Amino acid sequence: MPTESLTGWADIDLAAIRANVERLDELSGDAAVMAVLKADAYGHGLLPVARAALAGGATHLAVAQLSEALAARAAGITAPLLTWLYPPGADLEPAVAADLILSAGTPWSLDLIADGARRAGRTATVHIKVDSGLGRGGAWGEDLAEMFLQAARLEAEGVIDVEGMWSHFAWADAPAHPTVQRQREAFLEAIGDAERAGLRPRIRHLANSAATLTNPDAHLDMVRPGLAVYGLSPTPDIGGPPHFGLTEAMRLTARLVNVKDAPAGQGVSYGHEYTTPQATRLGLVPLGYADGIPRAGGNVGPMALGAQRLHVAGRVCMDQVVLDLGPGSDAAAGDEVVILGREADGEPTAQDWAAATGTINYEIVTRLGARVPRRYLGEAG
Ligand SMILES: *Cc1c(COP(=O)(O)O)cnc(C)c1O
Repeated sequence: MPTESLTGWADIDLAAIRANVERLDELSGDAAVMAVLKADAYGHGLLPVARAALAGGATHLAVAQLSEALAARAAGITAPLLTWLYPPGADLEPAVAADLILSAGTPWSLDLIADGARRAGRTATVHIKVDSGLGRGGAWGEDLAEMFLQAARLEAEGVIDVEGMWSHFAWADAPAHPTVQRQREAFLEAIGDAERAGLRPRIRHLANSAATLTNPDAHLDMVRPGLAVYGLSPTPDIGGPPHFGLTEAMRLTARLVNVKDAPAGQGVSYGHEYTTPQATRLGLVPLGYADGIPRAGGNVGPMALGAQRLHVAGRVCMDQVVLDLGPGSDAAAGDEVVILGREADGEPTAQDWAAATGTINYEIVTRLGARVPRRYLGEAG
């Protein structure tokens, strides 16, 4: 649809994604970069972001769910691609045939991968997932020891290749937290155990965005950032995107579709949770919670109309929210409102929305609705 017909859209700056990956590559020194593109590239759009990340120097990509990985392959993404979420009983033959890197975080997952590999008639590339203390995915203790022996047998058969081992931090956003160092040590210990069992993992990876930005000791052979690829800060307490040399790639804009005078004392939106304190002008923004505007942003969500900073007036509805533009506002229907964009440009940011609504910037961007068209800017020629 031509832009003049759109009520709202998200601009995705692919040049910023490219530059962010270049920055992460530079920060991580000799380590390779695996860009995490799960959840439709954190709401930014899988395919264009994958191309931009690869252009920026990422050598590997990752998505959480098997279905996301297969969709990426079907869309023509051929780069090394890790996936880690699939249930017992999943048919992994297509995954092996598609040359995905399959994570094994349980003894049964190794069996499932082996079965897929035998049926596909090729060796499956495996990264063993160690739970070094997050207490989420991956294996520890006896299960892990059993997996190493099982994996060594399957390697000897030529069914799998344990190319990598990986793990994930609980507290990477608090670099001084004692678990960070402990998890790294536990991970390296597990790698030692794997080697003693006869495995030769070449790619050891541990660092998410926060660890990539703040903890060089965790870079190992490859870093695995998601959020920072999109130019958002995983550690807003330490600094925003400009502090880390990152640039937010997403700007969400909408056009006012109704501007009108309102008297003092007028209740606004469902439940009248906002009342105009004085005679004023109201502006209607045609995006709502179905588009990813958090409903918790009622009366607090920040927006900008040019240089004017505003807040949502009253409840966020499914498709619309209202702004109190102030008395004498010269805003008109058609004017553009920035809902989130760049800190360096003085715009409200995903982090501002997160702070205002009690969540994290990850959730703000990943929940951007499917209904919001993405416009891609800065595509490499
Ligand atoms: C999402 C995820 C990442 C990326 O995390 P960010 O904080 O976005 O950098 C890395 N590894 C795993 C296992 C993940 O689930």
